[in-house]
Amino acid sequence: MNELETPPVGNQSKPMDEAAPVIDTSKMSEGQRAALELTEAARESSNARTFAAGLFMGEFNLDGIRPFPEQSTEARDQGDAFLQRLEAILREKTNPDEIDATGEIPQAVMDELARLGAFGIKISTEYGGLGLSQTNYCRAAMLLGSWCANLTALISAHQSIGVPQPLILFGTDAQKKKFLPRVARGEISAFALTEHGVGSDPAAMITNAVPTPDGKHFILNGEKLWCTNGTKAGVIAVMAKTPPKVSKGRKKDQITAFIVEMDSPGVEVIHRCRFMGLKALYNGVIRFTNVLVPRENILLAEGKGLRVALTTLNTGRLTLPAGCVGMAKRCLEISRKWANERVQWGAAIGKHEAIADKLARMAANTFAMESMTLLAASRVDRDKHADIRLDAAMCKMWGSEMAWEIVNEAMQIRGGRGYETALSLKARGEEAVPLERLLRDCRINTIFEGSSEIMRLFIAREALDPHLQISGATLDSRLPISKRLGAAVKAALFYARWYPKQWLPLQEWFKSGGGDATFARHRRYVARTSRRLSRALFHAMLWHGPKLEKQQVLLGRYVDIATELFAITATCLRAEQMLKSDERTTEKSDLIALMNCFSRMSRLRIRRHFDGIHHNADKCGYQVAKQVLDGKFASIESGIVRGPS
Ligand SMILES: Cc1cc2nc3c(=O)[nH]c(=O)nc-3n(C[C@H](O)[C@H](O)[C@H](O)COP(=O)(O)OP(=O)(O)OC[C@H]3O[C@@H](n4cnc5c(N)ncnc54)[C@H](O)[C@@H]3O)c2cc1C
Repeated sequence: MNELETPPVGNQSKPMDEAAPVIDTSKMSEGQRAALELTEAARESSNARTFAAGLFMGEFNLDGIRPFPEQSTEARDQGDAFLQRLEAILREKTNPDEIDATGEIPQAVMDELARLGAFGIKISTEYGGLGLSQTNYCRAAMLLGSWCANLTALISAHQSIGVPQPLILFGTDAQKKKFLPRVARGEISAFALTEHGVGSDPAAMITNAVPTPDGKHFILNGEKLWCTNGTKAGVIAVMAKTPPKVSKGRKKDQITAFIVEMDSPGVEVIHRCRFMGLKALYNGVIRFTNVLVPRENILLAEGKGLRVALTTLNTGRLTLPAGCVGMAKRCLEISRKWANERVQWGAAIGKHEAIADKLARMAANTFAMESMTLLAASRVDRDKHADIRLDAAMCKMWGSEMAWEIVNEAMQIRGGRGYETALSLKARGEEAVPLERLLRDCRINTIFEGSSEIMRLFIAREALDPHLQISGATLDSRLPISKRLGAAVKAALFYARWYPKQWLPLQEWFKSGGGDATFARHRRYVARTSRRLSRALFHAMLWHGPKLEKQQVLLGRYVDIATELFAITATCLRAEQMLKSDERTTEKSDLIALMNCFSRMSRLRIRRHFDGIHHNADKCGYQVAKQVLDGKFASIESGIVRGPS
């Protein structure tokens, strides 16, 4: 194969900020350009296309994920022992409804969790942690998520995005020795990126740090919003703007990540935020006034803060879908019991088709969520540096959206009792089923740690990357015409070979067979649909050109198709593996029925997304939205008590 046959993947471990930018930002507004350049510079590159990324290029490559990676006996036993003790604490020492009602986690519970090592699950034993695997950590998040979202958030914000994770990834030996034993023992940590004007767009950051004249410290000033664990933390990771770097005569903004001791003079928690759910979240607004931070507390390097934040989140955001799996399982348990028990119109409600349909979707989607999450986690366990950006983003986006659908359906199945609080149910003598709390706690999952909209853009950016690498230069008005022509010739040669292949079912013939016929059928479907997806995406690029980047709803459809394909694959591989296992607890025919049902439901969603590519209301919808924004439909808002304008 020559270089033109293999589309380049990222920049082969070259840091993106040293690589040539592949997106032409010359026609963008200043704000858009700043945001894009900053995130592009922090983008990680990879030197191998993952299974998830390959789906957008019509590649169906199961290397490394088939057979479904199972935990080693040793790792599983370690996980089981920890989970048993964690479950005992949850069951015997915690009352999630009381935590919800009081808005406080009792100190005794935190102490128990600290003694168990729950604050250092992934931290290596060398630094006083438990040294458990990512899979075991995700299993712990599932257990926690099934019981108490406040505890899940406490543990997860501490070690998935708080100080431990970036330290494990980027810390120097000295930093690890200093901080990891503290956080492993239970000193709580947090992650502070968001500000009043910085939600999804870090370029708008105001918090800043300037070096002292001797260069030994930085002086930190600013305010961080919604910092989970911030009101209890001893140490936090803070993102701040540091003096810009001048490159080719242009000033480039820099963001740096600092480890900040919360007892440093000048650090204040000025407000504890309260929310619709997660009532006992220790979340606050933190103000920094002339806080002296030693230079040695910089994570990775000056100017690499966004890379630290994004990379931390890549693996860190796997905990969230794991928590969602736990919650979904709990919803299934509650719904199954109630649908059997509750008799209306002469039959258990689970026998009425409208409710049965919900139960089936709940079971199939929960199984899929778990399969996707375990698959992504196993990739981290195999290789600490595995590129799981897409896998984790797909798990987060799909898992949090499915979790919301599941808890919503569970509430419908429980009827009026679903809407009643657990404490009220208990007070009048019924079982204290906490669906109302689960629903309130679940809603935030599609918003934080990368909102669904931002996840779709993130995944779409990665989906387009091979094409940008191949043909981006052709359309880049900043480049001399000779370079653009050269790039056009290379791109034409590449596509002349790549495109016809997307019509040939080679992968279905050679790569997706073997094993049980049921599973082979699903694999062939994924391979075939991946080629269809790659063609559709390519056609969209030709049709829209550089403007495709703005077609968020359209891009979202491609992202959703690939995510469904990823879900079918993960589910199919896991079911196949479960059937081979000696410890299987589900009958073969039942497992196959579940797999087939999930695949059918997923295929229907995929079909709708493909249909939507050509038959949609995107254009007129955007037009109406513009009119709404311009106040053209003020009459629709008439007849109401108006909020303050
Ligand atoms: C309970 C809670 C806990 C949190 N914990 C932490 C924490 O520990 N640390 C921390 O740093 N932050 C934390 N956050 C902040 C959280 O990560 C942000 O809320 C999230 O990033 C979204 O930012 P925003 O709310 O400002 O929304 P915005 O960025 O203002 O977005 C508003 C809406 O617009 C959409 N949107 C934004 N940009 C685009 C775009 N370009 N294209 C399409 N749609 C877009 C978003 O998806 C969203 O739907 C927390 C927030 C909450 C509520």
